[in-house]
Amino acid sequence: MSIGDEVALHRSPPERVDPKRNHIWVAVVLATVLLAGGVSGSVLTAQSVARRSSERHQAALALSSAEVASTLRLAIEREEDLAVSAAGFFLGTPFATNDQFLAWANTIRAMERYPELLGWGDVLMITSAQLQAYMALAAADPSSVVSGTFEITPPGERPFYCLFVAGQARTPDTGVPPGFDYCASAAGLSILAARDSGLSSYQSVDAGTGSTLTVQVPFYTGGATPPTVEARQAAFAGWVGLAFDPNILLERALKDRTDTAIVLHFHDALSDAQFNRGAAPTGAIGVTKDLQNGWTVETFGAVTSAGVLHDRSALTVLLIGIAASIILAALVLVLGTGRAAALRLVGERTGELRHQALHDALTALPNRFLIMDRIEQLLVRNRRNGTTGAALYIDLDDFKNVNDTLGHEAGDRLLMAVAARLTSALRDADTIGRMGGDEFVVLIDGATVATPELIAERLLDVMHQPFDLDHTSMPLSVNTSIGIAIGDRDTGGDLLRDADVALYQAKAAGKNRYEIFYPEMQTEISRRIELQFDLRSAVESNQFFLVYQPIYNLEDLTLVAVEALLRWRHPLAGVIEPDEFIPILEQTGQIQEVGRWVLNAACMQMAAWHAKGDVVDISVNVSARQLDHDETVDHIREALEVSGLLPSSLIIEVTETALMRNAVETSVRLKAIKALGVRIAIDDFGTGYSSLAYLQQFDVDCLKIDRAFTHAISTSPESKALIRTLVQLGRDLGLRTLAEGVETTGEMDHLRNERVDEAQGFLLSRPLDAATLEAQILVP
Ligand code: C2E
Ligand code: CA
Ligand code: CA
Repeated sequence: MSIGDEVALHRSPPERVDPKRNHIWVAVVLATVLLAGGVSGSVLTAQSVARRSSERHQAALALSSAEVASTLRLAIEREEDLAVSAAGFFLGTPFATNDQFLAWANTIRAMERYPELLGWGDVLMITSAQLQAYMALAAADPSSVVSGTFEITPPGERPFYCLFVAGQARTPDTGVPPGFDYCASAAGLSILAARDSGLSSYQSVDAGTGSTLTVQVPFYTGGATPPTVEARQAAFAGWVGLAFDPNILLERALKDRTDTAIVLHFHDALSDAQFNRGAAPTGAIGVTKDLQNGWTVETFGAVTSAGVLHDRSALTVLLIGIAASIILAALVLVLGTGRAAALRLVGERTGELRHQALHDALTALPNRFLIMDRIEQLLVRNRRNGTTGAALYIDLDDFKNVNDTLGHEAGDRLLMAVAARLTSALRDADTIGRMGGDEFVVLIDGATVATPELIAERLLDVMHQPFDLDHTSMPLSVNTSIGIAIGDRDTGGDLLRDADVALYQAKAAGKNRYEIFYPEMQTEISRRIELQFDLRSAVESNQFFLVYQPIYNLEDLTLVAVEALLRWRHPLAGVIEPDEFIPILEQTGQIQEVGRWVLNAACMQMAAWHAKGDVVDISVNVSARQLDHDETVDHIREALEVSGLLPSSLIIEVTETALMRNAVETSVRLKAIKALGVRIAIDDFGTGYSSLAYLQQFDVDCLKIDRAFTHAISTSPESKALIRTLVQLGRDLGLRTLAEGVETTGEMDHLRNERVDEAQGFLLSRPLDAATLEAQILVP
């Protein structure tokens, strides 16, 4: 017998309970618990669904209104930017003609870039004494914006009139009648107040076909807005007037948004303007956002109340919940998972919306809003950790050309490829975003090992590889400029602004490079703006003068020519070098006028020396921008005729990059110049990428080997090889070669051994003023 059997034998018989009834009891209890729990759970869930749905609506509306507000804020800033650049043009070209304005407006592609722009131009204050002269001007320069016969409107004699001078209209019928006096119109007070306050004046004008948004932006001599009312009145130069179609702006803000309406509103002491767009369902509520400077926008969208009975999905959850609780526990389980899935879906959907709002649609990179937020975080984090972060502002050079020549679709593809390439060159810890257009921002955390400079170099490097956008077309080369701001700032906006300033400097310094922000940079940019202003009167005030650098035959060191080099005697700053002011002249188009002066002065001087018996040649620099115009050929002819200099004594220097810029037209103009009997030299040769075949297409006489190669003779074997190739190239094409920048006898000996024909440089002579040259070198 086993112990188990014994125990069994001694056990008393158990109480008899019916197992079936027990099960039912358990089931009833369970069912009751399930029912109670299920019903109350369903009620709670339904309430939470209703709340979430209401919250979601509210969140969607908040998001929607935030996006609408930032789209419109950006649009308003963009319009102001346009006005500022027009003001810059009008300051640089006072009393610009319509043709001049149109030409400029076309170079910045204003009508294309601003589809909402209906028309724009400058409005000037004309005193009654100036009126006759103005009318003569208006008659001689019929405008595309004003149409009809001249008539002061409203009629009457007033001390001054605010009249339209030059401009552009999208369609001819968007014009104003000639003689329309803005200051005597309904908007007059507001426009004059804008002159005194320095702030823009906005109006809603009903043009019959719907309202138009008109903006008058005051501008002042010197470019900046003076600090006091008196100073503003004294320096007042005019208004840039712009007319926009508000519907296009509002449509852009409404993009892909259904059941939404927006009301854009401007209000200040003197004017009130309001524009509406879109349709909202009944019961929609509005969220108002302040866009600053008097602008507000109200966004209307549907929002449901948080009650279960008002929300269909909450009601459904409740009914199904109760039904399910009554029927089976298993279904409750299913419902539970169903509910979880529904909630997950809701989560995903809001995540998606958030993603769309904060990311760029084309490249999927973080957009401006997200980047601004990330910069704030970057600053806080680095402050806490005692590390130094940085922002890199990246901009493609001449991206506009890609859009212009290959089309916007190719431009978009390029931007996507650029985004991918930039991203690939960064570590995961670094953030990259697209600010719009061809502008990208990279944020570098202080904890990153590589310095911002190294990262910038790496980015420039990866961008140098040509882009293969479409396998049938040629790979596309683009250059990039980068501005870097390093360290702490009060706000993210400050860090970004500094990076942008550095970017501006990188562009001004020749592009395809990076620059690091330093506080004086801002001053340098201001100096540039001041110089730009001062340059306007430099020709008429006789502030330009020429110096002459001798050019020698390397074989026997006889003087063969002099190169005329421009200098600017600034009334306060002293003599300024051309590297500083020629880029400004080129940018403002003034190089045309100054270049003409240089040609005349150089030819007159050389003709005078010839009359004294010195027969050497004169070399004159002509910039790429000058070669964009046919009239430069006339200027050369004129300089020869007026001075009486023999054409065979004049050499025109054109840089290699200038030739490549606009090859077909340039080659036609160079032919016309050659036809005058003048010779052509290619300046800074070797720095561009011309091929032999390319050079043959231009009928040139001399190659001026860039001084960078001369300097590298002593240090780099490649440079020696390159000089040899360039000399060979010259010989193959039957051209003379000249080496620039000779500073040592070592360099000179080497160049002579390589059979370079001529040389120019500090070793032989610095550029000299006319009197010194005449006294020391041109002794007959
Ligand atoms: P560029 O045509 O290459 O002129 C030669 C420049 O090299 C001159 O500078 C000259 O002073 C400098 N140079 C000459 N020998 C040496 C040397 O041995 N070592 C070094 N380091 N430099 C040497 P500059 O006068 O400052 O002119 C700079 C540039 O400004 C010129 O470069 C030219 O591109 C432009 N430029 C000057 N005058 C005119 C002008 O009248 N019209 C136009 N469009 N451009 C001008
Ligand atoms: Ca030159
Ligand atoms: Ca040169």
